[in-house]
Amino acid sequence: MRRKQSAALFAAAQTLLPGGVDSPVRAFKSVGGDPVFIERGKGAWLYDVDGNRYIDYVCSWGPLILGHAHPEVVAAVQQAAALGTSFGAPTARETELATRVHMAMPAVEMIRFVNSGTEATMSALRLARAATGRSGILKFDGCYHGHADMLLVSAGSGVATLGLPDSPGVPASATAHTLVAPFNDLTAVREILESRPGEIAAIIVEPVGGNAGVLVPQPGFLDGLRTLATEHGILLVFDEVMTGFRIARGGAQERYGLRPDLVCLGKVLGGGLPVGAYGGRRDLMQMVAPAGPVYQAGTLSGNPLAMAAGMATLAALSREGVYEGLERQTTSLTDGLATLAAKYGVPWYGARVGSMFSGFLTDGPVRNFSEARRSDTELFARFHRAMLDQGVYLAPSQFEAGFVSTAHTADVIEETLAAADAAFDAIQE
Ligand SMILES: *Cc1c(COP(=O)(O)O)cnc(C)c1O
Repeated sequence: MRRKQSAALFAAAQTLLPGGVDSPVRAFKSVGGDPVFIERGKGAWLYDVDGNRYIDYVCSWGPLILGHAHPEVVAAVQQAAALGTSFGAPTARETELATRVHMAMPAVEMIRFVNSGTEATMSALRLARAATGRSGILKFDGCYHGHADMLLVSAGSGVATLGLPDSPGVPASATAHTLVAPFNDLTAVREILESRPGEIAAIIVEPVGGNAGVLVPQPGFLDGLRTLATEHGILLVFDEVMTGFRIARGGAQERYGLRPDLVCLGKVLGGGLPVGAYGGRRDLMQMVAPAGPVYQAGTLSGNPLAMAAGMATLAALSREGVYEGLERQTTSLTDGLATLAAKYGVPWYGARVGSMFSGFLTDGPVRNFSEARRSDTELFARFHRAMLDQGVYLAPSQFEAGFVSTAHTADVIEETLAAADAAFDAIQE
């Protein structure tokens, strides 16, 4: 498969954009080769500037649960745009979207819309610190919560694949209050909490890890966090930027039947436009300015285009059977991939929750980031290139989740598995 135009565009981009991209993992560094420059997307398909097409399992890193250019989302955005793209003044759309979120996630009693997941987590943690009068934050190894200074510690995929333990430019003082425990390790959490009584404001967790490849919470882990947080007067923050509206309509809180104190949202919530949000207990959210003293603001927050795309997306997701369909197609994909890996004797540990999936090239199990790191990343790079040449666009890192959309029909999955059969065969040589 020729990608001459992509190579030329990448060369040009590198003269003006650092690494040729606006977000690191897009540059394909960990799998080698040039990134694919996209011309357009439709449904499950991506079309590149060289006229090649690919079945897309990145889906813009999660937001596009309805696939590319879904007609209802496009129409909603067009209609909103014609009426003005931003006012910096309240609109009815914000309350409408807030209502939908609250209906799906009862724990979100009040919400503040922002523009990215990064903004959502940093604002939620500011609020948690204000509400508790404490400074400490406990996060998990391999969990990514955006690129705010205080959270750029053991932050999974983007950072890990570049081999940067942390980032230069983050002063030690910014992360001095950030503690890290292994995912799925309640004993480690308990020890940290007991050794620092009264210091920790919040436990922030991706309830299903999605930025180290998919890390499935072991039975009891999330419940244990809920119990420990309550016991220690700590707020439990679910970072559902990836899992919200993805692994169930009500996210991980619905799937696992838990009630976090604060919730961070993004990705699917914006239907492909830049949106984040944080919300949760009313008494806490009432502390956010101007209702309360915790400052947080945004020029384009709650803007009409993003609200329209979010509304159209959540409306489509509220139809009967949508999540069952996603679950079914994703299961046939992951079962099929595991069968093929076994056929070719490739080490494979499949992890899936809802329509998020990973295939770790290791015999597994993978319950935390250090186990994920046992994967054969060199073999993954070859598999990734082989899949690309077969017309399947996977995330260009072993440590990123894959996503299935409602546009990935049984036919699309079947075509993917035929491509995977050829790709596994190709990497034998
Ligand atoms: C993507 C992601 C973020 C960051 O969101 P941005 O919109 O990229 O800033 C935060 N948390 C989780 C769990 C994510 O997957």
